[in-house]
Amino acid sequence: MEYEAVIGLEIHVELQTDSKIFCGCSTAFGAEPNTNCCPGCLGLPGTLPLLNRRAVEYGVLAALALNCQVQEKSIFARKNYFYPDLPKAYQISQDDYPLARGGYLEIDLPEGSRRINLQRAHLEEEAGKLVHAGDSIMSAAYSLVDYNRAGVPLLEIVTEPEITSGREARLFLEELRRLLRYTGVSDVKMEEGSLRCDANLSLRPAGSSELGTRTEVKNLNSFRAVEQALNYEAERQARILAGGGEVIQATCHWDDSCKATVVMRMKEGAADYRYFPEPDLPPLLLERSYIEALKEKLPELPRQKRQRLRERYGLDDEEAAIIADTREMADFFECAAESYQDHRNLANWVQGDLIYQLREAGKEIEQISPALLVELLEMLDRGEINRPVAKELLEEMVKSGASPRRLVKKRGLGKISGTEELAPLVEQVITENPEAAENYRRGKKKALAFLVGKVMALTRGRADPQELNRLFKEKL
Ligand SMILES: [Zn+2]
Repeated sequence: MEYEAVIGLEIHVELQTDSKIFCGCSTAFGAEPNTNCCPGCLGLPGTLPLLNRRAVEYGVLAALALNCQVQEKSIFARKNYFYPDLPKAYQISQDDYPLARGGYLEIDLPEGSRRINLQRAHLEEEAGKLVHAGDSIMSAAYSLVDYNRAGVPLLEIVTEPEITSGREARLFLEELRRLLRYTGVSDVKMEEGSLRCDANLSLRPAGSSELGTRTEVKNLNSFRAVEQALNYEAERQARILAGGGEVIQATCHWDDSCKATVVMRMKEGAADYRYFPEPDLPPLLLERSYIEALKEKLPELPRQKRQRLRERYGLDDEEAAIIADTREMADFFECAAESYQDHRNLANWVQGDLIYQLREAGKEIEQISPALLVELLEMLDRGEINRPVAKELLEEMVKSGASPRRLVKKRGLGKISGTEELAPLVEQVITENPEAAENYRRGKKKALAFLVGKVMALTRGRADPQELNRLFKEKL
């Protein structure tokens, strides 16, 4: 029987506030373990939570960017469970009255765009971080706990179960990360855990509308892991069903080194968490005018930006996607495009050589002046330098921020085209390669290219090849 996958995602996003959601402790990543803690986030008796205004603002901004209906009234709730990374033995979250409902994110697939609907987005606090000895949670002899992370504000975003493949899940997450980065509410660094994803998957007979038993996969800390884990889980469930077996509802752990899911525990139901309204926090009431004011603050979002880049500058889908990947990259491009008219050529350099050199130099696009790239491209267009030299200059320009024009002067990298400069080199090459010169005289056209190549090598590509052709023909 043919099956189709039904996938839902739960994404946890750390909001990049300076302090935690219910106390004043710092949220800085990478601090000495257990130094950004206070009685409040350690769950000591007698402490009370105080809601961080900025966390609410960031949550609302993200929800608006995701087309959610932000609720004027939401209620914090205690989610009770016992785990060593949770000092209070409950997490302050939101249950029946989340910050935002509905919403959607549109993703671009090769076969067209697709709208993935969202169920909700709600605020909650992070748990601490368990550090397992050894390679994996399954084989660790002991674990250490760091409460620096406990109380960092989180936005949990839950999709409807309507994603159909690992690849689609990955594209959704990539677009979500881009969108959140645009809004500035999170640094969305998967490697630092500020964007995390759990996925649930079930199979159903193709064309049917009923849902099968679902399993949840945790510990997906890269987009590649999400795609691989979901593909693996779909195949695993299909094998069980094909063999006449039954899928058991469970939480699995994705083991990235074995490329396999491992069943950790049978899944809790919502009832196991015994949610009840948080008695220490009043309902969160937001005025419509506050929500509207935040809507005004939203920047142009990735999808709109890609479309505008295509229409205004004639970029193709791929170019627009690469350049609109971050706001900073798009700003750089648009700033350069104001004074440089060949937009496709500009896009080509930005998406290719410039991005490569930035990565090599470990620099960000904001550190480079768009005017310098324009200067370089204009020199190339006017024939003052050739392409290999332009690439060399770009590397130096990215590394040191130096002006390409000044670099050319300083290093004598300009194109050599004058007869008085080239003629001696032509002489020299003929003397050094008598055989090739003789071959050319006897009518072997290929020998000319060889001789020209020799001068190009001597000048490190700076000689004008047309001028060289002319000179060699004259001489021979
Ligand atoms: Zn604290």
